[in-house]
Amino acid sequence: MEIFRGISVAPGVAIAEAVVLEAEEYRIPYRTVPEGEVPREIALLDEAFHKSIEELGKQEEWLNDHLGRDAANVFEWHIGVLKDPALRSGIEKLIREQRSSAAYGASTVMRNYQRRFMQMTDPLLVERMRDVQDIERRLLRHILGESREDINHLTQPVILIAHDLTPTQTAQLANTKVVGVALDAGAATSHTAILLRSWGRPGVIGLNDISIRVSGGDLVIIDGIHQLVIANPDETTLEEYRARQTAYIRLTDELDELADLPAVTRDGCRILLHSNIEFPQEAAVGVAKGSDGIGLYRTEFLFLQKQEPPSEEEQYEAYCDAIRGAGDCPVTIRTFDLGADKYTQQRQYEQERNPMLGLRSIRYSLRNLDLFKVQLRAILRAAVHGDVRLMFPLINSLMEYRQAKMTVHDAMEDLEEVGLPVAREIPIGMMLETPAAAVQVVEFCREVAFISIGSNDLIQYLLAVDRGNERVSTLFSASHPAVLRTLRDSIRACTKAGVDCSLCGEMAGQPLYTMFLVGAGLRTLSMAPANIPEIKKLIRAVTLPQAQRVARRALGFDTDGQVTNYLRSETRKMLPGDPI
Ligand code: PEP
Ligand code: MG
Repeated sequence: MEIFRGISVAPGVAIAEAVVLEAEEYRIPYRTVPEGEVPREIALLDEAFHKSIEELGKQEEWLNDHLGRDAANVFEWHIGVLKDPALRSGIEKLIREQRSSAAYGASTVMRNYQRRFMQMTDPLLVERMRDVQDIERRLLRHILGESREDINHLTQPVILIAHDLTPTQTAQLANTKVVGVALDAGAATSHTAILLRSWGRPGVIGLNDISIRVSGGDLVIIDGIHQLVIANPDETTLEEYRARQTAYIRLTDELDELADLPAVTRDGCRILLHSNIEFPQEAAVGVAKGSDGIGLYRTEFLFLQKQEPPSEEEQYEAYCDAIRGAGDCPVTIRTFDLGADKYTQQRQYEQERNPMLGLRSIRYSLRNLDLFKVQLRAILRAAVHGDVRLMFPLINSLMEYRQAKMTVHDAMEDLEEVGLPVAREIPIGMMLETPAAAVQVVEFCREVAFISIGSNDLIQYLLAVDRGNERVSTLFSASHPAVLRTLRDSIRACTKAGVDCSLCGEMAGQPLYTMFLVGAGLRTLSMAPANIPEIKKLIRAVTLPQAQRVARRALGFDTDGQVTNYLRSETRKMLPGDPI
């Protein structure tokens, strides 16, 4: 049994066999074969070794002729590994003695081999681990041949283990049999994490090296409550987790019963709970979970799915679907927030050195006005059919906001010229996501219809911590006193100016911060639909003076550790028995 600790993206417990997604995107199926098929698997293995060595020989020769001996030596080393009799016999032993399939045997033995290199102290030898991965992939390619499967064709529930997933791959999980995910990479507010959260099944990320420590077919438990992954659990652990899984399902069923009740504090203060969505179909899911509207529609995901950007008509249809899905509830459409960790397929080879500080969000829109205007036209046309608000991401200066707003007016005129109906009175607002915007919030309040605080980016820029980098994920903390004070000041300024203010970053969906945010003055929180029931339960358990007292106390601490401990103990008092 091996236990890994990471960062949870969604609560709950999942138990299933692992599928390890390689960079090449095929899975290593775990199979034991009947006794009679052992010779066939051995023959398959022989052929895979033979083909791999032959292929490598040709590559070595080509490199030697074109790039010289040094380059060719790399492949000579690969050939040497494959010719090592101990490697070959290790795999054969698994097939003969445990009747494992050739693919599973090869994968297991090669991963043990990788582990040996990982434990070495010489950095050059540690680097060899990548070579061993490469050899493993080559062998598997020959063993699996045409029978390679991708995750779309799974026939039974599995836990997906991978080094990382792109936002686009993550978005495809909804149509598969994957019941839980564990990744080496990632941090709590990376966009992959956000998509995993909306997908709603248990997931733990930032695990560093789980993808090479677990093999396809290993039994795995994902404990999204305690941020753990357990591989090959012993019987007692497995039984304990089966019981926890049942208890968690019971808890979520109970929470779902709150869907039709309003989020109102015990002393009658109404809090609006909105949902964050990435795809139009999710609008209806949010409403079913008891949300009061869509607080953030991340439209950029429409731009990530295909090679070409979506046409005005395609976008119009998608926005209309979201508006219809939301029923009579308001929908806040954010213009595309591309760049950083969300590159279009066309731009994926033009990555920037420092993408989080680069040409992203509104900066990218203002540099690509044609693309921006197409989107604005689609939004303005769709907005005629509902209660829609328009929001720009990452506004960092008044000039940026003014230019973006002028582009909206241009788009309105274009539409009126051709006689199409347009939502002239659409409220236009901004996301407050940078320290500069927070410092100038008073000036912004004079010009915007509303402000939505994007705490994910705000924390990233305020604390200078890349929100997607697992190496610094422990430094990314919403409890940092500088974050709490910035939030308090921004909320206060909006309230004083009479500008509607909400928060739509991940902290809105974390019960730990609910009392602070309400106590600091927020009356609208927007979050992944799956988080709504628990946040609602908490709000219905507190009074406004209680929340205000918690916010005041939290603001008095010097370190994020003190803040977190304090908020955790206060939250537990309100939700005894719930996992927080
Ligand atoms: C944020 O930054 O908090 C936010 C909600 O926007 P995104 O996560 O899409 O960057
Ligand atoms: Mg953001």
